Amino acid sequence: MKSKPFPEGLVVASHNDGKVSEISALLEKFGVKVVSAKMLGLSEPAETENSFVGNARIKAHAAATASGLPAISDDSGLMVEALGGDPGVYTADWAETPDGRDFNMAMEKVWKKLEALRSPEPRRAKFCCTLCLAWPDGRDEVFEGIVEGSLTWPIRGDRGFGFDPMFIPSGQAKTFGEMDPAQKHRISHRAAAFAKFMKARFD
Ligand code: IMP
Repeated sequence: MKSKPFPEGLVVASHNDGKVSEISALLEKFGVKVVSAKMLGLSEPAETENSFVGNARIKAHAAATASGLPAISDDSGLMVEALGGDPGVYTADWAETPDGRDFNMAMEKVWKKLEALRSPEPRRAKFCCTLCLAWPDGRDEVFEGIVEGSLTWPIRGDRGFGFDPMFIPSGQAKTFGEMDPAQKHRISHRAAAFAKFMKARFD
């Protein structure tokens, strides 16, 4: 075991409550004190890059610089094979409405596009997650994970967040929205990226 990492705590550089709770659950098992960017009142930087890694770096460095603590960010999204990888880095944008994000609307948008294309079943998709760990002095490390699966309609389950109710991971019968959170944490794109992060920092 390396010396205890992050003795002063770690900032989760996200304002997305679903991500913060999943990341906190994964980190707290290792005794890491976690605080979110939202709890610290940090502003959300614009995600101006066109890659997961580019946007993950923006978020982690902004939080590390503003807080003076190491920070971890997550940039993630859904890539649908028949849509050429869309919505990809723009996954959250597909849910935007004048009154905030509406993921039921966004899932329906994805499904309608697949129907319009008459894309064959299974409608393959993957969730991708890029984690960036950044320090106030400008260093960073990047860890990536994916989970392959397919999309189903109508949506099923009210657990998880975002596009979980339409995504069935390969080899499973339940959508992420129906799954016990502990099971999602074992197999998700975020879990895969975290396993790499844990190996680098906690082994
Ligand atoms: P961003 O990384 O903040 O740009 O947003 C990524 C978007 O991808 C989220 O708002 C969710 O809609 C979606 N997403 C990422 N990870 C998951 C997941 O584990 N389940 C469901 N949706 C996810």
